[in-house]
Amino acid sequence: ALRLVGGYKRFHDTPVLTGVDLTVHEHEFVAVTGRSGSGKSTLLRILAGLDTLDAGTIHWTGGGSSGRPHTGVVFQQPRLMPWLTVGENIAYGGRFRAHRDHFDAAHATGLLSRFGLHDLAERTPDQLSGGQAQRVAIIRAVAIGPELLLLDEPFSALDPSIRADLRGWLREVTAELDMTVVLITHDIDEAIELADRIVLLGDTGTIRDEWVVASAPTRDCLRREIFGSYSGA
Ligand code: ATP
Ligand code: MG
Repeated sequence: ALRLVGGYKRFHDTPVLTGVDLTVHEHEFVAVTGRSGSGKSTLLRILAGLDTLDAGTIHWTGGGSSGRPHTGVVFQQPRLMPWLTVGENIAYGGRFRAHRDHFDAAHATGLLSRFGLHDLAERTPDQLSGGQAQRVAIIRAVAIGPELLLLDEPFSALDPSIRADLRGWLREVTAELDMTVVLITHDIDEAIELADRIVLLGDTGTIRDEWVVASAPTRDCLRREIFGSYSGA
């Protein structure tokens, strides 16, 4: 599990996270939501090791390792390398990261086919739609065989009409690879459809509420509860 205890982070004199306790179990899919500015991306960067805590601890145990998890990250923009083909993006994506000794290019291109992207392997990123590019970015992230997959609003820049496809596709990928996932999203329906557990980050920089999706009587019920808590946040 990934355990963040007493996570505290400020920028200059402004506290953003003021005591975040979050545990993500292995193979669990957790969605983190909250208003704009509540600190979701800050939390994700800290989980990713791209930023540091001012106080508190973060620790991973599981999958044979202990300390910091091997992590794949996807942001709102796909950030593919424009001078490389899709296949090369996925193959080289792992080379700049830790654990590169374990990187297997055949496995990476195999993933493209396995998740319906075989046709895109020879294209360059400028020949992809926004949705295709984001699928490739997600495959690049999982191709490194991460213990933890972190996604910061991966679909929010995309046309709403294709978001539903992407959600279903992401669910397939993460379920089939049995990933441990933290998804940042302000889309409650997306969170309900994908996550096992939904966490609401409040405006005071702590976890305000959380819900186990399977325990909700109905989705509508859960939706109403989350919106209620959201507006009170
Ligand atoms: P959104 O939903 O708009 O993406 P968010 O919940 O992801 O918002 P963050 O990006 O984590 O919010 O930002 C939380 C707060 O921290 C904001 O007030 C933001 O201005 C501030 N902040 C974030 N990064 C920095 C930084 N590098 N320097 C100074 N302030 C920052
Ligand atoms: Mg953000």
